[in-house]
Amino acid sequence: MPRPILATIDLDAMRHNLAQARARAGARKVWAVIKANAYGHGIERAVAAFADADGIALLDLAEAQRARDAGWRKPILLLEGFFEPADLDLVFGLQLTAVVHDAEQLRMLELDRRTAPIPVCVKVNTGMNRLGFDPGSVAAVLERLRALPHVNVAALMTHFANGEGGGNRELGDVMQQMRRFESACGAWTGETCLANSAALLMQPQIGGNAVRPGIMLYGGSPASGTPAAAFGLRAAMELTSALIAVQDLAPGEAVGYGSRWVARRRSRIGVIAAGYADGYPRVAPDGTPVWVEGRIVPLVGRVSMDMITVDLTETPDIGIGARVELWGRHVPIDDVAERSGTVGYELMCALAPRVPVTTVG
Ligand SMILES: *Cc1c(COP(=O)(O)O)cnc(C)c1O
Repeated sequence: MPRPILATIDLDAMRHNLAQARARAGARKVWAVIKANAYGHGIERAVAAFADADGIALLDLAEAQRARDAGWRKPILLLEGFFEPADLDLVFGLQLTAVVHDAEQLRMLELDRRTAPIPVCVKVNTGMNRLGFDPGSVAAVLERLRALPHVNVAALMTHFANGEGGGNRELGDVMQQMRRFESACGAWTGETCLANSAALLMQPQIGGNAVRPGIMLYGGSPASGTPAAAFGLRAAMELTSALIAVQDLAPGEAVGYGSRWVARRRSRIGVIAAGYADGYPRVAPDGTPVWVEGRIVPLVGRVSMDMITVDLTETPDIGIGARVELWGRHVPIDDVAERSGTVGYELMCALAPRVPVTTVG
């Protein structure tokens, strides 16, 4: 028998979440963001589940190739564009919509001698300060791109630092970034591509012609403090395992490395086949919720490479072989993440290659 850990990806939940994004987007196009192996869910599964999206967005050429191989015929937005001239073979070959975010990429396009055009999306830096042209330089960039026979400018885009709200008005809250974006647009009357999940769900005043939701499509919340279920989202990834051992502890005995957790009473400790080598966060503290056979029990003791331990003292009927959910429908991934000082995104992306994955829906 294989080790009992398993990740189950629910394509129906992904379709449902896309429909939620579509409903919020109204008339805007929806680019389903599937970078980082579709946030750990698998490019091929995302291509199947997001068939109704207007396009998909990612940033790795190998993943773009996988999406085309899986039968994706609609647009693919390459979120960071290309990195060197040789990349243009695949950008043109796979007919990708390349983001152009800096002068170096502009020069690579100007030196290219192809004639069949590809669409490009010009990224404007409105305060995130990672990628994008200064708002003041956008008009000149557009003029240079328009002079190229092998390029069609499809849209202007920007990315919000504080899509969930808040942020600092001077340093770039959503409305401040929007003002800078509008100044960059000038006379531009084409498409604009703006909102990530947080902005789509929480900034209904943001317009534009296209949105780029990611995390919400997988059933994760983009906003700390608001559960995904409150946005009508369903968990797409379930990480399950089983109880493989039970220990009875006397008061004063400890569990696991560092003897972090010490029993204050006679305690029944369950050992679960899941550890940080599977992607469960090593920093998860005592009390992190674990679902065992219909009950929520607290994690106790340090997470090790292949095992975690839970307190079953209050659930004496639960024994070896009991089914366990680490995250999924019963334990929101965002709960585990928040207790561990991170976000659901990181846990999804960190699902380890050794975990077998199955698909439902
Ligand atoms: C990752 C990413 C998104 C999606 O963000 P979520 O928070 O997952 O919705 C949108 N736009 C860009 C440019 C991104 O890199």
